[in-house]
Amino acid sequence: MLGVANKRSIAWAIAKRLAAEGARLAFTYQGERIERTVRDLAETVGSPLVTSCDVRADGDLQRVFEEVGEAFDGTLDLLVHSVAYAAAEDLEGRFTDTPRDRFWLALDVSAYSLVACARAAEPLMEAGGGGSILTMTYLGGERAVPHYNVMGVAKAALDASVRYLAWDLGQKNVRVNAVSAGPVRTLAARSIAGFPTMEAIVEERAPLHRHIDADDVGAAAAYLLSDDARNVTGTTLYVDSGFHSVGM
Ligand code: NAD
Repeated sequence: MLGVANKRSIAWAIAKRLAAEGARLAFTYQGERIERTVRDLAETVGSPLVTSCDVRADGDLQRVFEEVGEAFDGTLDLLVHSVAYAAAEDLEGRFTDTPRDRFWLALDVSAYSLVACARAAEPLMEAGGGGSILTMTYLGGERAVPHYNVMGVAKAALDASVRYLAWDLGQKNVRVNAVSAGPVRTLAARSIAGFPTMEAIVEERAPLHRHIDADDVGAAAAYLLSDDARNVTGTTLYVDSGFHSVGM
């Protein structure tokens, strides 16, 4: 599990659901600031491995997947990638003004990291006869959502990466999918200037006129990661009260 920061993280909702269904889970955390929180959460689901990982560092990724191999007898069934970052100043104002270095930072953390994780997970999944990889995306990668800005461009790259990874790894019986979630109040969401407006518009316009919560994503993730979805790959499952389906 990559992407638990606290109990509100979407990754934590997914972890709780998977653990309830019997999965043994390893967790990564980014930075000492959240280490204690992640260790405490991981302990509640009996995790055999909690380790640090900054997805920008190839050395971290290599070490993490070696540790995973040792903890899980050389195999890995599931990988949850629930990681994204863009500088707060790029989630307000104009996308047009995004500087080059922060454009690549957002794309590196939020999109390329999936490719790097999938490549590192591939031999462990192949050793177990296959696997399932899941990432978290948002409609802002398909439509211009005010304030989502460079994160939308990163999600577009992430969405395309899901399809190309699904193509490559299908040969090894590894599936790759995404959940596109509606707005959920998490740490990452708080840095998006227009977040309260996004929530209000979903409530007003979505066919179901209500918000989703992280547990809704946990349920969708559990399906995509399970054998029930054995012939589902390269796709996006929307958990957004139907908001993506309306034009006005
Ligand atoms: P969150 O802040 O709880 O999770 C984001 C995670 O990314 C954190 O655990 C953080 O430590 C991690 N991260 C950031 N930079 C990293 C790095 N360099 N290396 C390793 N980890 C790093 O927020 P969340 O809302 O649970 O976000 C999880 C995913 O869900 C993200 O991809 C986000 O874009 C996506 N998503 C969120 C919403 C929403 O409304 N909250 C909607 C759709 C999609």
